[in-house]
Amino acid sequence: MSVDLFEYQARDLFEKHGVPVLGGAVAETPEEARAAAERLLPQGGGKVVVKAQVKIGGRGKAGGVKLAGSADEAEEVARAILGMDIKGHVVHRVMIAPAAAIEEEYYFSVLLDRAERTYLAMASREGGVEIEVLAVEKPEALARVAVDALTGIDEATAREITEKGGFPADVADQVVAVVQKLWDVFVAEDATLVEVNPLVRTGDGRIVALDGKITLDENAGFRQPAHAELEDEAGADPLEAKARAKDLNYVKLDGEVGIIGNGAGLVMSTLDVVAYAGEEFGGVKPANFLDIGGGASAEVMADGLDIILGDPDVRAVLVNVFGGITACDAVANGIVQAIELIKAKGGDMSKPLVVRLDGNNAEEGRRILDEAEHDIVELVDTMDGAARRAAELAAAGK
Ligand code: GDP
Ligand code: MN
Repeated sequence: MSVDLFEYQARDLFEKHGVPVLGGAVAETPEEARAAAERLLPQGGGKVVVKAQVKIGGRGKAGGVKLAGSADEAEEVARAILGMDIKGHVVHRVMIAPAAAIEEEYYFSVLLDRAERTYLAMASREGGVEIEVLAVEKPEALARVAVDALTGIDEATAREITEKGGFPADVADQVVAVVQKLWDVFVAEDATLVEVNPLVRTGDGRIVALDGKITLDENAGFRQPAHAELEDEAGADPLEAKARAKDLNYVKLDGEVGIIGNGAGLVMSTLDVVAYAGEEFGGVKPANFLDIGGGASAEVMADGLDIILGDPDVRAVLVNVFGGITACDAVANGIVQAIELIKAKGGDMSKPLVVRLDGNNAEEGRRILDEAEHDIVELVDTMDGAARRAAELAAAGK
């Protein structure tokens, strides 16, 4: 999986690898913004820029990027931007940076191109506008250069990118150097995307990365201990952070049916089946992906249920288990104990739990759940039936 970083986090990583950036400070209140502005105004020639920190493009157009000419004004602008809703993303932080005197805006990105099984660099001297718009309206202005994984963006490749992107001759050498440094970021940080839009030429002829986007490859987390903190800060979803702390494979989605299953493939197909069944009940959808893996112990089941029941959007839960090495009776015991554990901790156990057990020792598993007589648990034999029932209960609980 992958994690998108906030702009200020990308800025910090750029700085770490020698990519030219401007100073930046993060503020969560108008007063903090004011203090940061006081420090940064001199570097910006008496101006700072206040930028909403949300993981969505087009902040500028939405009013989330504003210049301010004094500390007072920075405070005022920050007050307006904090709390703003930009395409469904609420602004909790702003970044304050010295304003740049922009002469020209360019574009650069490098990403993992899964379809072509290689890396791809894209560049254009016409940056600032959204890349999707540029790619459609002026495809000839957007250069695409495949990057060999073994050579990477060496000087020759950087020069090819700069030439094909149509960068002016007087900044070409600087762009060549910056593009190589951005490749260093991509490799050293195990990113799947590094994008700079705009990369600017300032009034004094310098090339500076003014806005950055980095997507990290979470699968490389084991060799990137410093990323855990970035990911927690960036992980806007507290449930995902909690699941990560418990080593659970959990992804928050935007529906109402909580899902637990064993095995990624089974969970994925459960999502599909629930989404399909949900159409009949006013469009209820899965609330999450959660794979508890092969060894579904009581504790893992309890952790999983705890996270799903802690999601205020969840109206009903579907536990879909195919017994293999861990047989269904063990899973059933896990569910029973999980309910006891959560109850003992004073957790909310009022949401209905639809359970489908199949495979190794399914019958014994069902007997255990029947005997436990938990009134919230409902057993359904088939996957389709269970998905349908969970969707129905979720719709009724809305
Ligand atoms: P985005 O809209 O989310 O991509 O946010 P950006 O950080 O790219 O900012 C959008 C636009 O605001 C840029 O393309 C610039 O035109 C403008 N902008 C951002 N920072 C500055 C700055 O320091 N000075 C000036 N003059 N304009 C800026
Ligand atoms: Mn931008």
